[in-house]
Amino acid sequence: MDDSTRKELTAWLEFYQELGIEGFYRREPGAVVTPPSLEAARPAQPATPPAPKTIPPSAPARVAVPPVPTRVAAPDAGPRTPGSRPLIRPPAPSFSLFEAAPAPKAGPETLDQIRQDLGDCRRCKLAPTRKTIVFGEGNPHAELVFIGEGPGADEDEQGLPFVGRAGKLLNRMMQTVGLKREDVYICNVVKCRPPGNRTPEKDEVDSCSPFLYRQIESIKPRLICCLGAPAVRTVLGIKEGITKIRGQFYDFGSTKALATVHPAYVLRNPREEKILREDFEKIRDFLKGVTQ
Ligand code: URA
Repeated sequence: MDDSTRKELTAWLEFYQELGIEGFYRREPGAVVTPPSLEAARPAQPATPPAPKTIPPSAPARVAVPPVPTRVAAPDAGPRTPGSRPLIRPPAPSFSLFEAAPAPKAGPETLDQIRQDLGDCRRCKLAPTRKTIVFGEGNPHAELVFIGEGPGADEDEQGLPFVGRAGKLLNRMMQTVGLKREDVYICNVVKCRPPGNRTPEKDEVDSCSPFLYRQIESIKPRLICCLGAPAVRTVLGIKEGITKIRGQFYDFGSTKALATVHPAYVLRNPREEKILREDFEKIRDFLKGVTQ
C-alpha cells in the first residue's frame, strides 16, 4: 500500500471512528457493494474527509429509535475525562411518560365545594315551591352533627336549619348538656321545604341524601344525632318506630349514630321532653368519652 493510499485510508477510518463505527472487515475482491448513504445521519464534520477512491464498506444501518422512557434516577453525567464526549441524557422525568402523571392527592371535599355542587338545585319536585335551599350550618369540623327532617317555614325564609320553634327547643336541649350551637353542625335529610311541612317523599330523599352523606364525609363527626324517624330511616335504614329505637347507638361507618325523637314531636307532646333530655345526656356522655 503506497503512502497516499495509507493516508487516505487512515482518514476514512478516523472519520468512521468519530461516527462510532468500528470493526471493519475486508470484503472479498469483486463483491458488489452499494455506496452508503450517510448524508442524513452524518453530523457536521469540521474536516471534510477525502473523497473516497475505494468504496468503503457499508456501514451497519442505524435506525433512529426514540428511547423508551423508563423511570430513571436523577441525571448524572459522571466524571468527564479530557476529550471524552459529554454524556447527554434527557432530563429524568419523575414518572414514566407512558403512565398518567400522578394525580394530585385529593383531600376530602369541603362543605363549600359540596354547596357549590348543589348549586341552585332543581333535582327534585321540592325545588319549585321552596324559597331557599337550607344547606346546613355550623362547625365544618364538628364532633357532633344533628340531622333533622327538612326545613319548615322559618328555615325556608332564612335559609338556616332549626331556627323556628323546634330550633329553639333544640338550642335549649344543647344548653342543658353544655353544648354550644356554634360547635356542632346542623342539617336535614332534605334541603328544601316540603309543601305544608309534609314528610319528604322517597324520590326527594333519594335526590337529596347523597349531598347529606357527602357533608357527613366532609365533617367526619364522632357522632351523628338523628332527630326523628325520617333521619333514622335515611341515615340508618331503620324503619322501626322512633320511640322503640331512640337512645341507642348505631354504627355509621366509622362514626357512631344515635336516634332520638324530633323536637317538633316534643313540642306537640311536652311530657316527652324528658326523653329528649335523656338522649341529650347520652350525647354529652359520649362526647366526653364516658360512653363509647
Ligand atoms: N324541622 C326540621 O326537621 N328541620 C329544620 O330545619 C327545622 C325543623
